Parts: sequence; structure tokens; C-alpha cells
Amino acid sequence: MFGRVPKKSDNTKFYEVLGVPKSASQDELKKAYKKAAIKNHPDKGGDPEKFKELAHAYEVLSDPEKREIYDQYGEDALKEGMGGGGSSHNPFDIFESFFGGGAFGGGGSSRGRRQKRGEDVVHALKVSLEELYNGTTKKLSLSRNAICSKCKGKGSKSGASSRCYGCQGTGMKITTRQIGLGMIQQMQHVCPECRGSGEMISDRDRCPQCKGNKVTQEKKVLEVHIEKGMRDGQKITFEGQADEAPDTITGDIVFVLEQKKHPKFDRRFGDELYVDHKLSLTEALCGFQFALTHLDGRQLLIKSNPGEVVKPGQYKAINDEGMPHHQRPFMKGKLVIQFHVIFPESGVFSPEQCRKIESVLPMRPSKHLTDMELDDCEETTLHDVSAEEVKRRKEQRQHRHREGYDEDDDDDESAPRVQCAQQ
Ligand SMILES: [Zn+2]
Ligand SMILES: [Zn+2]
Repeated sequence: MFGRVPKKSDNTKFYEVLGVPKSASQDELKKAYKKAAIKNHPDKGGDPEKFKELAHAYEVLSDPEKREIYDQYGEDALKEGMGGGGSSHNPFDIFESFFGGGAFGGGGSSRGRRQKRGEDVVHALKVSLEELYNGTTKKLSLSRNAICSKCKGKGSKSGASSRCYGCQGTGMKITTRQIGLGMIQQMQHVCPECRGSGEMISDRDRCPQCKGNKVTQEKKVLEVHIEKGMRDGQKITFEGQADEAPDTITGDIVFVLEQKKHPKFDRRFGDELYVDHKLSLTEALCGFQFALTHLDGRQLLIKSNPGEVVKPGQYKAINDEGMPHHQRPFMKGKLVIQFHVIFPESGVFSPEQCRKIESVLPMRPSKHLTDMELDDCEETTLHDVSAEEVKRRKEQRQHRHREGYDEDDDDDESAPRVQCAQQ
């Protein structure tokens, strides 16, 4: 799917959670989930975390495609979206798909307290190519809403709250007005007194820490592990770390990696690195060697084979010096070097030097023109066209196409894009 295979990680946990063998049939899974989910349902005083875990395990194992990925590669592979699309994540939805809304016969009561899922918080995280090559850990400080530790999210000192007078605890208010002869319009809106919560906390009973808001702001430091070989656009998820709210399953904090442009190396096809290098004409014809500083600071000695001639624009590759594969960092792609040959300027060779060069280089393919042939030709004059100008115009056009929004244009476009450690 992504042209890479993650390493095996733990792939037995979900079976253990449901208490079934790895060979369990769909029927056995269903039975095990039903039994455990009823026992652990929060409405029956069960542990919400355990309930969530059960639903997640069942959700994965009941889907043949996800189960296969899990069996082969473990939970991490699913997190990275190999299963195609995220999970629905709402354990109550899964539970209710079995039993319907009134699972415990109480009808509305369990529905009324049904937990909703909080929103995920998504952050872009810029990373350099060096960081993706070497791996790193970034500490990020975020502030979020947390359930008030003093009142445990009740909002009151006593833990009690009374039904809102304004809406009788429904959180909604219905007003009617007459709009014509015998016609009445009904309008429903969120109760302004309780702001839709259906509860009222008396001023005296209000929790001093959260002022009755049930949540407080909290600073949280997250350690984001950027693993070797991760890619632009890859997501790193901290499950259940987003804003907390009462009766809500906390959403995830998701970091989406954004690979910064590197001045020297260009990453292509996931695991290949491309670098430009300029050679003088003499080096191209007679051989060269130079040191290339890699993304981890190592100096690579790059040299031509004896007798080798490098042509302008030619590519050459070094195996296993490209980007590491994610989760298999000992596997690396290719490092590809494109060579650009810098020709000498006009006028640097004297006629005598030209004759020397002619004596060494292969003969010109065009034969000498006879006087008769010359008589048939029209005289022309060659003018210089600045290659820089042509190149700049082409680059500007590509630039506009690619990243019309990108403003970091302080680099001089006529300057060489590549810096090589010459020696
Ligand atoms: Zn409080
Ligand atoms: Zn109200």
C-alpha cells in the first residue's frame, strides 16, 4: 500500500482484551464482546476505559481486513492508516449496534447520558530532512481543557446539581408565538440559563477551582517521537489527549508531519535522496573525487572510476545511502547524484591549445565544407542568449505552479542551488 512494511509489533493484546484465542471465529468474537461489554458498560458502573478498549478490540477483529493487518503487523500499522480510514472510535455506537439504544431496558435513561466523542485536535509539525533521517524527539507544550480535579467535573462543591428551572433539565427551550389567526409557531433553542447542560449549580455551591465550568485549562507537554524514515504527511496520534469535557470521550491530538525543503538534498519516491553536483569539464573527462556531507554529518567520499567520462546531466547512484525505511531503519534507499558539467568560458584557449585539444579529443563528426558548398550557404551570426535568463524564467513558472503560496523567496535564484564540499 505504501511500498513499505512496518515491523511486527504487539498483535495479541486485542485477543487478550476480549479473552479469546487468536484462532477465534467471528461468532466467538461476537459472544466474547457482548458478554464483556455488558459487564463493563459505564451505565452499569463499569470502567469507561475498559469499555472503550473492548469496543476498539472488537471493532478491529470483527473487520476481516483490519484483523489481517493487525495479525500481521500489530496495532501500530492500523494507527498509521494501513487499514484504510480511521476507526469510528465511538464505543457506544458499537455497543448499540448490538443491543440498540435501550440496552438495559431503561430506555431513555441510558441514552440521556450517552457519551459523545470530543473533537480531535490536529497540528502541523514542521520537521527537517535531517530529523526524518536521524529520528528525533520534540517536546511540545500545549494547553488544553482538563476535567477539574477539585470537583471531578461536577462543577459544584457538593457534587450535586439541580435541574435547570428554565428548561426542566432538557437543555432546550421551546417558545411559542402566535403568528396569525389561529397559527402558532414553535421555536426550539438552547436554554440560555444553563447553556444547554440542563443543570444548575447554585452560586454558593459552585466549585472554586473551575467556577462551575467543570473544566480548567491545563498545560501539557507532549513528547513527539519522530522516527527514522517517517514521511511528509504522516500522522502521529496521541489518543485521548485533546480537550476533556464531562460526559465526553476525549478526542485525539494528531500531529501531521510537514517536511521542510532541504537546501541540498531532495527526497523522492519515499526513500531516495537526490543531490546535484557540479564538475569542471576536466573532472568530467579525466576523473574527480569530492567529499559529500550526509544528513547525519558523515563525510562520503565520492569518486569516479578510472577512465570514466561523466556526461552533462548524468545520474549516478550509491546504494543504501538514501532515506531509511520507517520502522526498518537499517533498510535504506538510494542516494542519486546528478552531475552538471561546467564548460570553460569562450576565449580561454589559444589557437595552439585548441590544436592540442583536437589532437586528443575524437574527430569532429562534420566534414570540412568545400568552397562550392560554402558558396551555396548564407552567412549568419550567432548571438548569445543568456542561459541564466532562460533558466530563471522556467524556474519562476514552475515555482508559481508548485507553490504559489510559498513566501520564503529570499534565496537568490541565480545562485547555485547546491553547495558541495569541494576538495
Ligand atoms: Zn471544579
Ligand atoms: Zn436550562
